[in-house]
Amino acid sequence: RVSCRAVQGLGLGEAGAVILSFEDITQLEQAGQMRRDFVANVSHELRTPLTALMGFIETLRGPARADHAAAARFLDIMQDEAERMNRLVGDLMSLNRVEGDERVRPTETVALNDVLHSTLRTLRQLADDAGVTVETEFPDQPVAMNGDADQLKQVFTNLIENAIKYGGSGGRVTLRLTVSAREPALRAPGARVQIIDYGPGIDPVHLPRLTERFYRADDHRSRALGGTGLGLAIVKHIINRHRGRLRVESVLGQGATFTVILPVQENSD
Ligand code: ADP
Repeated sequence: RVSCRAVQGLGLGEAGAVILSFEDITQLEQAGQMRRDFVANVSHELRTPLTALMGFIETLRGPARADHAAAARFLDIMQDEAERMNRLVGDLMSLNRVEGDERVRPTETVALNDVLHSTLRTLRQLADDAGVTVETEFPDQPVAMNGDADQLKQVFTNLIENAIKYGGSGGRVTLRLTVSAREPALRAPGARVQIIDYGPGIDPVHLPRLTERFYRADDHRSRALGGTGLGLAIVKHIINRHRGRLRVESVLGQGATFTVILPVQENSD
């Protein structure tokens, strides 16, 4: 407001125009601040594994040179750290792509049941290794929608992977698909895909910020499990592109439910 008055005092333009440009500047400043925060976060996330790698290289050149057992151990850690950096760069590239695509509506016809089955095939090994059974509840008829099959698979992969990673202690995860001729959240025909786990759940204070880039409800656990903190940000952008909604519900100690609501074609019910 102060700078508005100062500009008006100089007799530059009408009040409406001046205020508008002032708001534009505020928005630009906010966008600039967000960009700076993002770059700071990325730098920090990349530097942590990089520092570890540099430390181990130095140790391998010096004190551990002749100690083959130690060298083998260090190389394992170095591989983990390099893989962490690789995942982070991969997720950053995905995020960049889905943000860029957000305004372009998908036009392909996709069968949601097929996307979900394909996702489950990809994640079978991960679930088996974690001792988690994925129960499925699907309708018999195919559920058709306009969508990008690869991106939708990415959404369900991220959500089911999280359910296994964070909620796997519950021993099972439920994947449910339902369809309705009038989905209340969309006021149109819609499908709901629910990913339900029976693990520790998420403290409700975290829920509103969960899809922010690099936001973690349990920082230590996410890092220990190799998480990048970008999975749900990617999910949000893809769902937006499909004009869908994401809901998260959780009661601490009783697991978490992620619900993806997507518009479907008229005849899907
Ligand atoms: P990450 O790479 O850390 O898994 P995500 O964006 O996929 O990043 O998830 C953000 C955070 O949300 C995670 O760090 C975790 O704390 C929390 N989270 C996501 N899904 C679950 C779940 N099913 N149960 C408990 N916590 C979860």
